[in-house]
Order: sequence, then structure tokens, then C-alpha cells
Amino acid sequence: MEKEIQKIDIRNLSAGQIVDFILSIGEKEYRARQINAWLWEKSASSFDEMSNLSVDLRKKLEEHFVIRAVKIAEIQTSDDNTLKIAFELFDGLITEGVLIPADSRITACISSQVGCALGCHFCATGQMKLKRDLRHDEIYDQVALLRRLAFEKFGQPLSNIVMMGMGEPLLNYENVKKAIYYITTEDGLGISPKRITLSTSGITSGIKQLANDNVKFNLAVSLHVANQLKRNSIMPVSKANPLRELTDALKYFYQKTGARITFEYLLLKDFNDTLNDAKELAAFCRNIPCKVNLIEYNPVEGSGFERSPEANVRMFTAYLESRNLVVNIRQSRGKDINAACGQLAARLQCKMMIE
Ligand code: SAH
Ligand code: SF4
Repeated sequence: MEKEIQKIDIRNLSAGQIVDFILSIGEKEYRARQINAWLWEKSASSFDEMSNLSVDLRKKLEEHFVIRAVKIAEIQTSDDNTLKIAFELFDGLITEGVLIPADSRITACISSQVGCALGCHFCATGQMKLKRDLRHDEIYDQVALLRRLAFEKFGQPLSNIVMMGMGEPLLNYENVKKAIYYITTEDGLGISPKRITLSTSGITSGIKQLANDNVKFNLAVSLHVANQLKRNSIMPVSKANPLRELTDALKYFYQKTGARITFEYLLLKDFNDTLNDAKELAAFCRNIPCKVNLIEYNPVEGSGFERSPEANVRMFTAYLESRNLVVNIRQSRGKDINAACGQLAARLQCKMMIE
């Protein structure tokens, strides 16, 4: 058992390192390519599955390495067919994903961390604090498992991926970047980056890094209110990443990538849903090519917030449209099973820790 713990996860090795290992045990180089294909194209979770390798080679791999694959611990189905998945990690921690079927598409919502350190007042994940970052292969595994589930349950391929589950992806930058590489590369899952959206609370250094890395996936920013003091009061992260710096970082991102940004704006009754709030948002958006997703608030116990009434939502939308902004209203899915945005807080986690 101790030896198992000491073994390296083979998915930590680069393609070149696998070649080095294969040559060092006297095997032919093409075996390394086969192993890579098993790991990243076929999402193998054990060496046993690698059926085109000799039994002897599979045994040698097992002696040296492990594959710490993510497992599905529980699936909950909501009234609207949204599935909430509890993913069990090698150390027993749980993270969550959601599979959302809509008419012509199926979207996977995945996590980048277990919990989140940023403590936004409206978010259940924030309440559970940060347990740890997810490794690149754990982020990749969520997509591989949800892709399989999309076929099994709905007979359809996965069409979109949003990194809007637990955690702040830009505070786990390297793992997220590497995971997206394996999700998008032709030697991996081969999913187009255009179908992937990363959502951030607005970590300005990370946004600049994305720009420098010239990423091809979409960027969404959880803005929620365009007034500095009000934003500080519900999103502590805003103090170290003020709106002025966020604007500069997003302009830089646009300059480098040419990609329009999506602002997410959670409508909270009497907090950020007045005409004045809409005016501040429109003024903020003037600086950056963008569109706005207005999001229905999903109640989180103890947050003190309420969903905006429909009349406010209509007024808010009409004002933004009158300023020529592109506005979408996002209704929540999976509410009855707490699978909606901001409600992911791994109830199982508590259950497992008590047991
Ligand atoms: N940490 C990143 C990504 C995960 S949160 C971020 O903050 O962007 C994913 C989205 O869910 C964010 O837009 C977040 O603001 C939103 N969200 C959080 N709590 C919510 C709630 N109670 N109801 C609706 N959306 C919520
Ligand atoms: Fe973290 Fe995003 Fe939730 Fe804020 S909204 S606590 S950044 S997961």
C-alpha cells in the first residue's frame, strides 16, 4: 500500500518522458505513443484496459506507475433532466460537475478546485472554503466521464464545456491550462476550444496570462455589479482586483485574442437590479467588446439575498438593450437538486467526513 502511494501517476509524465521510460525498459518507442493514446484519447483508467500492449509491459507499467482516475460517486437527476455528478478523487475528497441537456446541445459544467477560497457572499462553494486545487488529470477526467455519460443517458455527444463548477480556475492556472490542452488536442479528446468557456471572478493577473498564452477558448467574467464599493461588499476578491484593473486586463485580453468577453451578472433583489445599477453596468461595458448574461439567482442558505422580481429583470434588460448591449437571460437548471450555479457545495463531502 505504501508503495502505491509512492508511485507516480503516469499522467504526470509528458509524452517525451514516457518515451524515455519505454526505451529504458527495452521496449520499442511506438509503445509510448500507444500508451499516450490510451491515457488521453481513450481515457483509460487502468493499465488492464491497454489491450494492444503485451501483458508483460502492462505489468511493468503497473510496477512503476498508477492512474489515479476520478470516479463517479453519485448521480442525481433533476426534474428538468439536469444531472449532478459527485466525483470522488483519489484522496476521498469530492468535487462536482453538472450535465445540462438542452434542445440541440449538452453542456458539461466542471470544477477546477475542491471548494473555493474567495468567499463570494452569494455562492455556496465559497462557504465551504478551499480544500485543494484539482490536478490537470482530475479536470480532464470530469470531461471524459461527462462525455461518456452524455452518450449513455442522452445518446448525444457533449457539445459544450463550461468551467463554472467549484473553484476559481485562474487560481489553479497551470493545471487548468494543461487540462484544456488534453481536452482540446487531437491527441486527446479533440474538443474544439471554441466550445469551452472559462469563468473567472476577475483575477486580473490570470486574465493577462491567458492573453499572453493567446488562448482560443471563451472567457466569462463574473462581474455581478459594476460599482467598486458594492462589488467589494459581496466579492472580497474585488478589493485586490479592482474594476479599473479588471478593465485594463480585459482590454489587453481583447487586444491579444480578438475575443469578445461575456459578463455574468447575477440579479439580486434590491442590491444590484435598479436602474442606477443598469446604468453603471452599461457604462462599464462601453470600455470592452462584450455581451452580458443576466443570471437568475439560486438561493443559497444564509446568504441573505433574494432573486430579482420579473419586473426588475425586464426593466434591467430593456435598459441595457436601449444602450445597444447584447443581453441574454440565463435561467437556472437543476434547481431541485442544488445543481445550479453557485449551489455546488458537495453535501456528500460532509456525509463522507462524518461517516
Ligand atoms: N469562480 C468562478 C467560476 C465558478 S462560479 C467565477 O466566480 O466565475 C460560476 C458562476 O456561478 C459564476 O458566475 C458565479 O458568480 C455564479 N454563481 C455563484 N453563486 C451563484 C448563485 N447562488 N446563483 C447563481 N449563480 C451563482
Ligand atoms: Fe469562488 Fe466563483 Fe463561488 Fe466566488 S462565485 S466563491 S469565485 S466559485
